[in-house]
Amino acid sequence: MSRYIQVKWDATEAGGILIGRILEEDGNYIIDDVTEPMPSDRRKRTRFSRKPDGHQEYFNEVWNREKGRCFYLGEWHTHPEKKPTPSFIDKEDWSRLMKMEFESGCLFFIIIGIDEIKVWYGAEDQLIELKRRS
Ligand SMILES: [Zn+2]
Repeated sequence: MSRYIQVKWDATEAGGILIGRILEEDGNYIIDDVTEPMPSDRRKRTRFSRKPDGHQEYFNEVWNREKGRCFYLGEWHTHPEKKPTPSFIDKEDWSRLMKMEFESGCLFFIIIGIDEIKVWYGAEDQLIELKRRS
């Protein structure tokens, strides 16, 4: 994902989905893989609109390879700001996704800013920003 950090003034937003596992031992979530921007996604300087094309196929491939032992765990995208904050549209997108059926019980949303990466955790229509453990 770091390849898409919007350092250059004309770099457009990028994003994709998060794919991972939930550990049986302790219930921790692990993100193993992410998709990268696909040709049909709409990429602007301050907007990334992910379309299903490509991301879905990639997920299906991983799902087949792992024999169903993986989950859709959320979304990532970049922002052209040092410390990212979700836009109104981001929050609307996230709450729409949280209303959908998904197996993992919760979703993660990552925004890659220029200096910082921030992660939000969403479950049952509640959104919590995760703080880095120091
Ligand atoms: Zn955003």
